[in-house]
Amino acid sequence: MTPAIALAEAPLAQRPFDELVEEAVAFHGHLCPGQVLGVRMAVTGCREVGIPLPLQAGKGLVVFVEIDRCATDAIQALTGVSLGKRTLKHLDYGKMAATFVNVAGGAAVRVSARDDARTLAPSYAPGEADARQAQIQAYQVMPEAALLSIEPVVVNPGWLDRRRVRVLCEECGEGINYQRELTAGGRILCRPCGGEGYYSARPPGRR
Ligand SMILES: [Zn+2]
Ligand SMILES: [Zn+2]
Repeated sequence: MTPAIALAEAPLAQRPFDELVEEAVAFHGHLCPGQVLGVRMAVTGCREVGIPLPLQAGKGLVVFVEIDRCATDAIQALTGVSLGKRTLKHLDYGKMAATFVNVAGGAAVRVSARDDARTLAPSYAPGEADARQAQIQAYQVMPEAALLSIEPVVVNPGWLDRRRVRVLCEECGEGINYQRELTAGGRILCRPCGGEGYYSARPPGRR
């Protein structure tokens, strides 16, 4: 076994932090405070739910992320969860938080970045004038309790165990998978037809 494979198979919390950041950056494309924060969140979340080897765990780990930002990529890169495998769930809450779920064991922990971590960052990166660089440095060394809030949670019924069913929207006729339909006025509707859409039809003549 080569050393590289041995490292990749080690629990996140036991791997060199620099190497985890490198892996996240390779996936994300640049080094930013979000990569460091996402790595910290992934290490903490996996440890708290008892998933030491996320990349091998397959569907054993599901992560609900509450923001579509840099840190989300770091979590995906290190844990192997993805939208396509249905192991990464994006909730558009605009919050720097993620819930890690050990599907087999049932343990779930919500890990969020503390709001005061940003303010505290300069004190953990003395001499760094650039705020962004200070965050990158500080988030690597800040004690976990200063950087993250860790909250044991129970995932509400229906969020993990959607049945593989398909129905048709009674308004637009498009198929809806995994019980994502709405019922309004006795009709089965997709979310856009039910008023929860992110798009509307483009008026003629407008680009
Ligand atoms: Zn970034
Ligand atoms: Zn519809």
